[in-house]
Amino acid sequence: MLKFVVQCPQRTYLPVSDTANFFPVRRVYCVGRNYGDHAIEMGHNPDKEAPFFFQKNPDNLDPSGEFPYPPFSSNVQYEVELAILLKAGGNNIDLDLALEKIYGYAVCLDMTRRDLQTAQKKLGRPWEIGKAFERSAPIGPVIPIEKTGHLSEGTISLKVNGTLKQKGNLNQMIWKIPEIISYLSNYFELATGDIILSGTPAGVGSVAIGDVIEAYVQKVGSLQVIVK
Ligand code: MN
Repeated sequence: MLKFVVQCPQRTYLPVSDTANFFPVRRVYCVGRNYGDHAIEMGHNPDKEAPFFFQKNPDNLDPSGEFPYPPFSSNVQYEVELAILLKAGGNNIDLDLALEKIYGYAVCLDMTRRDLQTAQKKLGRPWEIGKAFERSAPIGPVIPIEKTGHLSEGTISLKVNGTLKQKGNLNQMIWKIPEIISYLSNYFELATGDIILSGTPAGVGSVAIGDVIEAYVQKVGSLQVIVK
């Protein structure tokens, strides 16, 4: 038995749909500008700039269905994303072995303090205060791959108070899921419990307290989040 000198920090475990089981989280990677139409709406040219990565913290993931409006921002925005959950990892993973590393998928929101992120971008500084704040990644139940199959196409959408705001298709990803896993594994050693948010289609926008967000990915399901 290990003896800890302070209380051991809580780890993050995500519920697996229709079971009493949990998926233990190790790291959270996020892909930026992975849908061309979103890159364009953010003022970038998707032909000239390859997608890139940043990270959130494992305990930013929140399956509660509630999103507390964070401090220090007057422009908090939603981004609906497909989350890829890994059951195995490695370095330099071959493209044709990448899909074997997937445990399942979930619907996730990459909530963003856009005003802070934009200011950091202009200063050439890291994005953490805009992206990796408390409860910044509401996430739905984990769906094992046996139920969805490998996902390369299907609707991804988001409504706010019943109005459609984002609608795209997983087949619009600039980097496909095997490419994301393979590329990331060149820079990081991926491992069991890692989660990758695969980017968002066009239509991102602001939320206000009281809003009801409904995120959807075909074959994975819906995630409803109330902004508190
Ligand atoms: Mn995002």
